[in-house]
Amino acid sequence: MVDIVILGTVALDNIKTPFGKVENALGGSATYAAYSASFFAKSGVVSIVGKDFPQEHLDFLKKKIDLEGLKREGKTFRWEGYYEFDMNEAKTLNTCLNSLETFKPEIPEKYKDAKYLFLANLDPSLQLEVLEQIKAEFVVLDTMNLWINHKKEELLKVIKKVDVLLLNDGEARQLFNTVNLVKAANMALKLGPKHVIIKKGEHGALFFTDSTHFNAPGYPLENIKDPTGCGDSFGGGFIGYLAKTKNLSEPNIRKAIIYGSAIASYNAEDFSLNRLKKITIEDIEKRYGEFEEIRRF
Ligand code: AMP
Repeated sequence: MVDIVILGTVALDNIKTPFGKVENALGGSATYAAYSASFFAKSGVVSIVGKDFPQEHLDFLKKKIDLEGLKREGKTFRWEGYYEFDMNEAKTLNTCLNSLETFKPEIPEKYKDAKYLFLANLDPSLQLEVLEQIKAEFVVLDTMNLWINHKKEELLKVIKKVDVLLLNDGEARQLFNTVNLVKAANMALKLGPKHVIIKKGEHGALFFTDSTHFNAPGYPLENIKDPTGCGDSFGGGFIGYLAKTKNLSEPNIRKAIIYGSAIASYNAEDFSLNRLKKITIEDIEKRYGEFEEIRRF
């Protein structure tokens, strides 16, 4: 039995930022999300890697995450990207779907009763397939520009069936064809989700329901090395906290947003999962407290 099922990529990334670069680094939307969720609850990953995926990464992940839903076939999904001085926007150089191209998600029996489902960034056709196989009580969806450009119709179908839509500001503008984020959020809410969270990179996150609004601050980080995976870490921390507390009230959702923001802020401090590997729940609680201070007036 797992608390949360996370569908997404488990990847090898080549990344360049103004502060350095890494090659063949552990990455992927499901990797960051599941690792971040694991601070609070047990998550199981539905994904695929290839035979080229290093055993050391599997050994590391399985200490914290259930990997029964991770297939091993063909070649691993690879993403190559870079950031310029505006680190809020990732620029993709190359996406190799490899084994994801023919991936047929299979849900292990013990995942089928999970109450929480995170459809992390992935092809919306696969998101739809998994959504139909798990009758979760609470579903969070994340996506990115590639899918908005190439699979918009399928993506809109998924959006209609989830409880929370997570996307960043650029994606919200692109998907709803408006520069105004309030309008974009309202358009998203009209499609079905009860909650919309618009992530604004280092500037925090906006949370909308049909009647309320919350604005989570960004954490004033002095040492940013690589923001890759911050969106996924945010989402994983968010759903992890909700799964742990089993409380979907709005005040608790606001707390989950701050826990997600705290983990994402740590993630940006180093490449790959290098920073997340070193933090503990005490570090997360400490940063949560700092967020409370920032917001007090
Ligand atoms: P984030 O920075 O949170 O948006 O996500 C970064 C991670 O997403 C990287 O580790 C990539 O391997 C992965 N990624 C990049 N492009 C895609 C894609 N098109 N679908 C799914 N995952 C992706």
